[in-house]
Amino acid sequence: AQADIAVIGMAVMGRNLAMNIAEKGFKVAVYNRSSARTDEALAEAGDLAGNMIPCHSIEELVAALKPPRALLLMVKAGAAVDETIAQLKPHLAKGDIIIDAGNANYRDSVAHDQALSAEGFEFLGVGVSGGEEGARHGPSIMVGGSKVAWERVQPVLTAIAARYQGESCCAYMGPAGAGHFVKTLHNGIEYADMQMIAEAYGLMRAGLGMTPSAIADVFEGWTKGPLASYLTEITVQALRTTDPATGKPLVDIILDSAGQKGTGRWSAIEALDLGVPASAIAAAVEARGLSGMRSLRQAVNGALGDAERAAIGTATPEIIAEIEKTLLTGKILAYAQGFDVLAAGSKQFGWNLPLAEIAKIWRAGCIIRSRMLDSMSRAYSATPAPESLILDPDFAGELKASLPAARKILGLAVANGHPVPALTSALNYLQQLRASRATVDLVQAQRDIFGAHGFERVDQPGAHHGPWHTGAE
Ligand code: NDP
Repeated sequence: AQADIAVIGMAVMGRNLAMNIAEKGFKVAVYNRSSARTDEALAEAGDLAGNMIPCHSIEELVAALKPPRALLLMVKAGAAVDETIAQLKPHLAKGDIIIDAGNANYRDSVAHDQALSAEGFEFLGVGVSGGEEGARHGPSIMVGGSKVAWERVQPVLTAIAARYQGESCCAYMGPAGAGHFVKTLHNGIEYADMQMIAEAYGLMRAGLGMTPSAIADVFEGWTKGPLASYLTEITVQALRTTDPATGKPLVDIILDSAGQKGTGRWSAIEALDLGVPASAIAAAVEARGLSGMRSLRQAVNGALGDAERAAIGTATPEIIAEIEKTLLTGKILAYAQGFDVLAAGSKQFGWNLPLAEIAKIWRAGCIIRSRMLDSMSRAYSATPAPESLILDPDFAGELKASLPAARKILGLAVANGHPVPALTSALNYLQQLRASRATVDLVQAQRDIFGAHGFERVDQPGAHHGPWHTGAE
């Protein structure tokens, strides 16, 4: 036995992770349910295959590993993980480590940890972000589960992770479930970030009449400012591409119906469960869902007529700078919401999630990597940590400076028929938080009238009821 670790699942993520592990000098045993994929992965690995041990059965795989064995699963989330664990268990010894590195629901990780630790095995639920490129050259890695297991695999995971100014973007988040919970919220924030970028694009396209290539130039400019991020960069790439078949901008050829695999929706569900507003994330999840309702969209378009999106202005540098500030406002607020859900989950489950560390390991490797995350890690490093990112003096200052532009642009957007669900959800969240007096006073009145739920008064302690006007003057 000579392999340091096994990677099970040789689809796009698993094979790239295995090559990354091999490149860092570790011996990695690789296995896939259907053997052809294992052979393909080896062929693709070129020189790196020297550090890879192809295994065509679970017996071979288990025999190839140094004890205590560490087996990293990179298979389809859900039933495939359960089935693979069930197949592995009879061949493993006590103390062996099973790592689920797919996009698991954190509740499944908690359940796997309980079941496996009861049988003497160790379990880690690990979130990996960065897509194919990240897996190959350095993803962001969020680890949850057994500390003993973490210590055993830490050298491998730390070595293969992305680096931000020399620091590895791999960290221990807490007990089982914590790694996948953090990864889930990473993806929820990713949904919001992408949707907001698309909304800003829509405002320039339909509201300012700009071409995709002119908008690409704008986004390129933004890669040098506060919106500097991987998602901003790939937006430039997307908008610069033309369809070879038709010569049209490729973005215009793409069907406007977005897919989703579940992590965004889980973020919104967890937020609702924890009672923490994550309206920008929810709006982004809903926007993807709504985009898929093609027949309803067509029917509504037919019944009510086209949205008749009107111009919000002309493409002057001033209005473009205001759209940049609008996107900045939305982005800060969406991240603030995402971190609030993390903080609430941490409290609820007793995880003590390291928020500053989370922002740090998201600075490179993962899909939401950005300049702003560096400021977020600094904000959460303060003692005491801010109750919300909005309260960090730097972010509060940025919001104050950007808010007038965001209000103006989103006002124009709504008045002129442009759909901007995530950006307006974020703005409304802030407007609600900021209001010295909320309109739920009226809601409390209604609740007391129909259900005698009572209310508190601003001028006296205790619970109160009506008396309510009855209609007779
Ligand atoms: P897929 O999610 O497409 O999964 C395919 C792999 O799962 C194959 O190895 C397949 O084996 C295996 N598999 C499917 N069903 C079973 C089963 N019942 N028993 C055993 N093995 C099974 O692969 P990806 O590489 O895209 O993703 C792997 C994981 O990483 C997923 O959880 C995904 O959500 C997550 N992830 C993906 C990212 C991406 O950019 N793609 C980014 C970050 C995380 P076989 O070849 O035999 O069918």
